[in-house]
Amino acid sequence: MKYSEVDVSKLTPMMRQYIDIKNKYKDIIIFFRLGDFYEMFFEDAILASKILEVALTGRNAGLDERIPMCGVPYHSAQIYIEKLVEQGYKVGICEQLEDPETTKGIVKRDVVQIISKGTLIDNESLVEYENNYIGSLVYFNNAYGLSYTDISTGELYVSIIDSNISKVISEVINTGLKEVVVSEKVDSNIISILKHQFKLVITVHESYDISGYEKLYSDLNDFRMIETIKHLLSYIDQTQKRSLIHFQKAVVKEENQYLKMDVHTKRNLELTETLRLKQRNHSLIWLLDKTKTAMGSRLLKKWIENPLINKEEINRRHDIVETLIKEFIIKNDLQTTLQEVYDLERLSGRVAFGNCNARDLIQLKNSLKVLPDIKASLEKINYYKVLDTIDELYELLEKSIYETPPVGLKEGYLIKEGYNSELDELKDLRKGGKDFLARFEAEERARTGIKNLKIGYNKVFGYYIEVSKGNIGLIKDEYGYERKQTLSNCERYISPILKEKEAMILNAEEKIIELEYQLFVEIREKVKEYIPRLQEVSKIISEIDVLQSFSTVAEENNYVRPVITDERFVNITSNRHPVVEKVIDGEFVPNNIIMDKNTDILLITGPNMAGKSTYMRQMAITVIMAQIGSFVPANEAVMPIFDAIYTRIGASDDLVSGESTFMVEMKEANYAISNATKNSLILFDELGRGTATFDGMALAQAIIEYIHNEIGAKTIFSTHYHELTDLEETLPRLKNIHVSAHEENGNITFLHKIKEGSVDKSYGIHVAKLAQLPTSLINRASAILKVYETTEAKRDIKIQQVLPLDELVNTPKKSAVEQELELINPLEITPIEALNILYKLKQKISEEKNEEEVKL
Ligand code: ADP
Ligand code: MG
Repeated sequence: MKYSEVDVSKLTPMMRQYIDIKNKYKDIIIFFRLGDFYEMFFEDAILASKILEVALTGRNAGLDERIPMCGVPYHSAQIYIEKLVEQGYKVGICEQLEDPETTKGIVKRDVVQIISKGTLIDNESLVEYENNYIGSLVYFNNAYGLSYTDISTGELYVSIIDSNISKVISEVINTGLKEVVVSEKVDSNIISILKHQFKLVITVHESYDISGYEKLYSDLNDFRMIETIKHLLSYIDQTQKRSLIHFQKAVVKEENQYLKMDVHTKRNLELTETLRLKQRNHSLIWLLDKTKTAMGSRLLKKWIENPLINKEEINRRHDIVETLIKEFIIKNDLQTTLQEVYDLERLSGRVAFGNCNARDLIQLKNSLKVLPDIKASLEKINYYKVLDTIDELYELLEKSIYETPPVGLKEGYLIKEGYNSELDELKDLRKGGKDFLARFEAEERARTGIKNLKIGYNKVFGYYIEVSKGNIGLIKDEYGYERKQTLSNCERYISPILKEKEAMILNAEEKIIELEYQLFVEIREKVKEYIPRLQEVSKIISEIDVLQSFSTVAEENNYVRPVITDERFVNITSNRHPVVEKVIDGEFVPNNIIMDKNTDILLITGPNMAGKSTYMRQMAITVIMAQIGSFVPANEAVMPIFDAIYTRIGASDDLVSGESTFMVEMKEANYAISNATKNSLILFDELGRGTATFDGMALAQAIIEYIHNEIGAKTIFSTHYHELTDLEETLPRLKNIHVSAHEENGNITFLHKIKEGSVDKSYGIHVAKLAQLPTSLINRASAILKVYETTEAKRDIKIQQVLPLDELVNTPKKSAVEQELELINPLEITPIEALNILYKLKQKISEEKNEEEVKL
């Protein structure tokens, strides 16, 4: 049954209200608040009951049939919401806007918030070391505006991209957006690829005017940027329906601000997650993250994805890391104090949203408490920024909020004594009442002689006097006790004096709770005013946190400070791959990477498994580490600043788009050579492998020549085409290097040592042997190799003719004689027949021999 097809006139008023709301939010699953539950109806119910694994029931809605319904308890709704959002759905929270107890007829309800992947703000649902970005894509003539934000922290970015589909998609994916809001004019191809290939949540949305956020973009001149930001803000305004005062001034991202890397390069180098398992574990960030705060961890990710290209900035980071390594006591102090700092960015967000509780404010206070210590440490190392310690805010929170408040705000126990005199008076009154109760109990015990007489409280008739069954006889009329309740072992009474005090106590209690809540809200409003300052503090804290993390990692792993040169040479000695070094069982073999001023291209040859790809990767990672301000895994490292890294490494077949390896290879190669400058780094790993031998070799050579003659970028090119090593003679800025392997008795050990010159032997078959392929297959391969080696000139033609592929596929093959023999049962044949067979078999053997001779 579909909600859009029911006869609305027959529905109950409440269901009519539901339909009205649902019509406004068609593509959103509506959580409709009914008492202590959120209920879903119609299609939403059928879908959600499956995903959430909750029972699908029915509800009488005035129609002939019951309508589908399912529900989740209000207090545990969060996990259900997350589950739906995780699957890419949007959830609309529809609340009761009036108190059902004081409302006649049906209560007003409306959607108060729409939750989707990009708008999650609840603490538990966010990964603390990652930003949760939602972005907006708007089409202008010949360009796209891209703006994005993390609602939980309020950071805001904007850029303009050329109207080129793959560039736009690459930007969106590179930025790590979880959800994209698009204007209607955005190319449908872009939408479709983002949605289906990259599984992003996409919403089409048209901007509307919202005011009050001008300061976020008042510094910008480009109207397209402003429009894009407004587009994003209006969507967030529409779905979140609450204050965004923690949003920060938009930061313009320009293409040439950072070292450029495309999505493939970032993935191939396993910067933030591994290729195969998509895990943070064993990625570069996993290695570098020794931060103490969630903010630091998030900033580290941004740095890794955006290495610097400005020498002063890079050197400044290196300077600080170096100082921290020298000043280890200060660094220790810093680490201890940073540990105490909570996620100020997201706390600020919750303060702005008005959904922070007293515990959040205590976290805030405890964070502020250590700021003076952090400030002192920073001064000691002459840090280039001054930390604002926001003392007034600390004092406000220190004198106002209890250390261990409850989660709820309507239970009291939030506000300290001495903060508000009215509250103190009420508390005295309550205390007076409580003191009275204790006194009263003692007096009544004395008066009645009942030792176990007790004063108790319940919600039905308030304070009472409880007397056990055996002592009832001791109660006299003159005491004025009035019996209220009989239990199996006792009687409960009330008395006039008790009732009088009760009114006072309960009254005070109620007033205290209300007043504490009001005071809390006032304090929260005051904290709001400090949000911009808190955000400044967050920036400094996260930055120093990343830098101390760099210094810790550098010390632990013996990294060295890289020297940034203005000249065009690379001199890295004893370089290691920082992650492989950590995770392999044996020792990692360090290697030099040397490209002098007259060398642009290193052509690397060597057997499979020798370490060519690792060598290329470690070069890229060393460059990235240097340019984000980290020390590097080497004994000595001098290098220029690279403006971009282009790679073609490994078999990252684009399975989703269905393109072949070779097509992907050529596209990536094209992207690299059409964008690279002489200041770029290009890494091509066995380019051309995806096509026929001569084809691939010809293309590889042409590409090398092009890079050498037209671009001049520093390049490492690995290849299994040994013929290419001859290029050293014609291309002056190309140098051959190779990885050696040690061979003994047909077995091979890899030394992983890079040396000058080229190597001319393929060890492929030995590797296959190590991989334990069938012996017959290995022997066959050796035989084929011999053919290659002996008949140089025409070997390709010969190979095609005399070594058909099925020969390889069908090994090990049984000879015709063996096959015949298998069919014979000696018990069933006569001696004459046996003799005949023997004769035939002998003939077959000589035939087979002749065939072999023709082949080889
Ligand atoms: P290739 O690209 O030449 O086939 P890889 O770079 O993929 O070889 O390396 C093969 C394996 O050898 C890797 O799994 C790695 O663990 C190991 N390896 C590579 N380089 C080194 C090295 N320098 N020291 C120790 N082990 C290495
Ligand atoms: Mg390789």
